[in-house]
Amino acid sequence: MKKRYSLLLLLAGFFLLQSCQEQRAYRALIVTGQSNHNWQASAPILKTILDQTKLFSTDIAQTPKEKGDMSNFHPNFSRYSIVVMDYNGDAWPEATKTAFLEYVKNGGGVVIYHEADNSFPDWKEYNEIIGLGGWNKRNEKDGPYVYYKNNQLVVDTAKGSAGSHGPQHEYLVRARKADHPILKGLPVAWMHGKDELYSTLRGPAKNMEILATAYADTAKRGTGRDEPMLMTITCGKGRIFHTAMGHVGKDATHPATECVGFIVTFQRGAEWAACGKVTQAIPIDFPNVAGSVSRPEYREVTLSEDLDKIATYTIDKSTKYLTDLQARIRQVSGNPAALLDLEKQMVSILKEKGSTVEGKKLILKELAWMGSDYCIPAVQELLKNEELKEASTFTLERMKGPRKI
Ligand code: ZN
Repeated sequence: MKKRYSLLLLLAGFFLLQSCQEQRAYRALIVTGQSNHNWQASAPILKTILDQTKLFSTDIAQTPKEKGDMSNFHPNFSRYSIVVMDYNGDAWPEATKTAFLEYVKNGGGVVIYHEADNSFPDWKEYNEIIGLGGWNKRNEKDGPYVYYKNNQLVVDTAKGSAGSHGPQHEYLVRARKADHPILKGLPVAWMHGKDELYSTLRGPAKNMEILATAYADTAKRGTGRDEPMLMTITCGKGRIFHTAMGHVGKDATHPATECVGFIVTFQRGAEWAACGKVTQAIPIDFPNVAGSVSRPEYREVTLSEDLDKIATYTIDKSTKYLTDLQARIRQVSGNPAALLDLEKQMVSILKEKGSTVEGKKLILKELAWMGSDYCIPAVQELLKNEELKEASTFTLERMKGPRKI
C-alpha cells in the first residue's frame, strides 16, 4: 500500500513538473563544452539566469573535449527559440554548421555571450552573426573596428589585431539606443561589476546596432574609446543579441555575471532574440551610476529579505536593503493600497522587540515621508524610548507638513 502511494506521488510530481515546464514560453539551448574560460561554471550560471525569468526552459548541449571526435555533435537547433553560445573551441562538423545557419536564417534567436565572440575566426557566416569578434588571429581582413569616440559612431578600417582588455575592473555602461526594447526603462548609464572590458573588436558589423558602450580608460590599459558592450544583429530572419560582458574565470566568485546589470540585460536580450520584444519588468535593484549591484545567488532580493536586513541593521552594515526598500516605495507610490501594505510591514519592524535601534531609525526616516495615519500610534509609542525619541519626534513633526515621495 505504502509503495503504491509513493508511486502515485512520484507520478503526480512528474506530471506537475511536466506542466510547469510546458508553461514556459520558450526553449533555450546553451552550447558549451570547450572554451579558454570556465565554461563548467558559466553554463549553469547562464541557465539559472534564463530559467529564472520563467520564460525559458533551458537545456545545455556539451561538445566533446578539445580535439575530440566532433562528428556526433548535432544538436537539434530547430527545437529551440534561442541558442546561447558559451563556446570558444574546435570547428563543428559541416552538417552542424549548416543546421545552425539554417536555424538563424529561418528566424532562430541567438545570444552571443562574452568569449563566444572569440570563436570560429574562419567561419564567415558565424562572424556575420556575431557582428564583431576578437582574438584568434582576427585582423583587418575580418572587418573594421567599430566604436564610439566623442559620442560619434566610428567605423575604423585601420590595420591591426582584434581583441584586447586590460585588468578587470568595474566600469560604467552607457546606453546608446535607450529606446530599444532591451534597454527601454533602464537607466541610461549604470555601473557594471568587476569584469574584462572587451576592446578593439572588429568584424563585418553588418545589420548591427550598438545598444550600449563602455569607456575603455587608458589608465586601465584601455583604448580611450567607448567600446561596444551590447549589440543586436539581424541575419536573415534571425535576431542576435551579443553581450561582450560576463567574464567567468577560475576564481571562486564571478562578479561579472553576478552583476544585476549583466543579469538583466542578458535576460532581456534573450527574450528579444526569442521573440523581438521584451515583457520583463525592470527589477528594483537595477544599478545606476552610483555603483554596481551584485546578486550573489543570481536572484532578486525579496521584500521580506529587505525588511529582515533592515530590522537587524547596524551602522557597520550596508544600506543596500534600505535603497531597495526606497525603490519599492517609489514603485508603488501611485497605488495607495500597495503603499499602505508596505507601511504596515515597515511598522511591524518598529513594533518588533528584536529590531535594532539603527534599523528602527531607518524605518522612521522613511515613514516621515511616506507614512499615513496608520503608523502614528506605533511612532508615538517610540517616544518613550530614550534612544528613539529624537527620530520619532522628527517623524511625527515631518508628517504634519506637506507630504511628498
Ligand atoms: Zn573573459
